[in-house]
Amino acid sequence: MKTDPASPWSTAQSEEFYGLKRWGSGHYSVSTDGCINVQPLADGREISIKDVINEAEEMGLKAPYVIRFQDLLRHRVVQLNQLFRKAITEEDYEGSYRGVFPIKVNQLREVVEEIVDAGTEFDYGLEAGSKPELMIALAMHEGENRLLICNGYKDPDYIRLALLGRRLGKQIILVVEQLSELDHIIELAKETGVEPLIGFRAKLLTRGEGKWATSTGDNAKFGLNTAEILFAAEALKKAGLSHCLRLLHFHIGSQVPNILTIKNAVVEASRFYCQLAKMGFPMGILDVGGGLGIDYDGSRTNFESSMNYTMAEYARDVVANIRDICTEAKVAVPDIVSESGRAVVAPHSMLVVEVFERINKRETLGVKQRPKDKHKVVRDLQGLAKNKSKLGRLERYHDAVQRKEEAFSLFNLGYLDLENRAAAESLFWQICEQIASENSQSGYVPEELHELETMLADQYVCNFSVFQSLLDHWALKQLFPIAPLHRLDEEPTVNATLVDITCDSDGKISSFIDLEDTKDHLKLHPLDGKPYHLGVFLTGAYQDIMGDLHNLFGRVNEVHVFLEDDEENGFYIEETLPGSRIRDVVGGVQYQHTDLCRRLKAQIDAATKNDVLKPREGVRLLEFYEATLESKTYLNIEHTRTKPKRARKRVTKS
Ligand SMILES: *Cc1c(COP(=O)(O)O)cnc(C)c1O
Repeated sequence: MKTDPASPWSTAQSEEFYGLKRWGSGHYSVSTDGCINVQPLADGREISIKDVINEAEEMGLKAPYVIRFQDLLRHRVVQLNQLFRKAITEEDYEGSYRGVFPIKVNQLREVVEEIVDAGTEFDYGLEAGSKPELMIALAMHEGENRLLICNGYKDPDYIRLALLGRRLGKQIILVVEQLSELDHIIELAKETGVEPLIGFRAKLLTRGEGKWATSTGDNAKFGLNTAEILFAAEALKKAGLSHCLRLLHFHIGSQVPNILTIKNAVVEASRFYCQLAKMGFPMGILDVGGGLGIDYDGSRTNFESSMNYTMAEYARDVVANIRDICTEAKVAVPDIVSESGRAVVAPHSMLVVEVFERINKRETLGVKQRPKDKHKVVRDLQGLAKNKSKLGRLERYHDAVQRKEEAFSLFNLGYLDLENRAAAESLFWQICEQIASENSQSGYVPEELHELETMLADQYVCNFSVFQSLLDHWALKQLFPIAPLHRLDEEPTVNATLVDITCDSDGKISSFIDLEDTKDHLKLHPLDGKPYHLGVFLTGAYQDIMGDLHNLFGRVNEVHVFLEDDEENGFYIEETLPGSRIRDVVGGVQYQHTDLCRRLKAQIDAATKNDVLKPREGVRLLEFYEATLESKTYLNIEHTRTKPKRARKRVTKS
């Protein structure tokens, strides 16, 4: 399929085409054999993702799966902390950075453990936003110098849990989101005799930007407005707990694409902080929340899937702006907390899906249909296809669309038979294809004709569920970088969109990263009957936990990869987490697998009794049903055609 044999496609072209260097932060590259390599520590040591796939398959795990690069996770924790330390030194800042990881962004134990461990030398703490998360945080948090910050709506039990943490000597701070919470905190502090550490969450007026902009402003569902802050301050004084107020918090929403928004919010919050300090509260900590972005499309712009700043710039701006405001107000600078979740965990994991099928209009409709009596509309379309009158692309396209619609109406009214309708459709697509190929030869392509490429694109069917693994793409149109994991030494020649295996027309990816705006399709390689794996990158934040059970597909397999110089391929798989089995997901909607088997057995017994089934066959069918309950929910794709004999054996395999 190579168009120009004189200039064969190079792996460097693939690297550029899929944007690896732009969104990959130095972690991803294409190897000479056309596979994607990852450098978890960006230090030159590489792992071939294809090797990980091969090893996982040898262990019996099939795509779809999540691969976690644990070293990359550590790398991000270290990077964030080091960049804040660097900014603090460079700006002569007198406080320190005491970041916390917001558990909600990825609650998986292996993820939280790795982060807590990597954060040891930085006193990197944890943040919880609900009772279950606080239960995790209390147990996983270690050390007296690390913070544990409690956000989210709180009932008295939530507050009691935090006070339990105080009894253990933890620096656990209850951030007040609602005035009613403060009443409970005061009451329970009195009741238990435990002194709480308290923070206020301010409702800033600085508007966020991007998809999550509504986390601030008058209508935000969290935080105290100015009057409430004054009221809360007064209430603390009255209760004799003034000395407990230590922190001011804000959160302007996730994935803030524009650094100006962050600067403005930091300035506004610093003013609040200084006012409270001047009122005599001890304070000491300013918590700038989350929002630090990820450049998913690699464009370095303030487009919503990008960010126009770097992590280093973020750290410097937070530090410098707080210092400036505090210096001006003659207030001692606070220690700085950020609750950066997405920026820490998004890069460490990726999703691997397998393309196993394609849906193609051209092949099914391109076949020449020769109706016995050609209807006029078909003859017209034939004329357009031959284009004897040399119409321009756009005019020909408009005429073809008009004829196609005419054919539809004629069919619905009963004036067009099936053969003529088929001929009209196939001619229409032939004309579209001609126009599209003329497009690629000429420079300027009118807007309307751009759509043609997408209309003609293949649909590559991938073994995964968007609703489970990329929920934010479905819900919020969030973009993730996607690239083939191999064959990158071949030119990608097929325009494709991706569809998943759910029975839902929304289960698809038809919007892809691009340097300007977005693309409606992605160039991929023609399928050749061998496994074709795509990687969806930067999926470590939020996607793992937000996924749902649409069509009962459930969790995918997972492999946890560590760098290891002593291993032949430079890595080892420390752990694998098997994805959901069918019995697990049906159990989640209240079907006990034993009960399902009992019911099916009753039906098989009845069929046997009525001579519909032979007893031996009945036994085998029941065994098959039972074995399938233990198997995985996603498709079990087989590439080599198995002989019927083997197919029968497969039945009992789980
Ligand atoms: C969700 C959330 C975060 C994490 O935000 P990111 O943008 O992922 O860093 C931090 N703080 C609070 C209060 C949150 O609700």
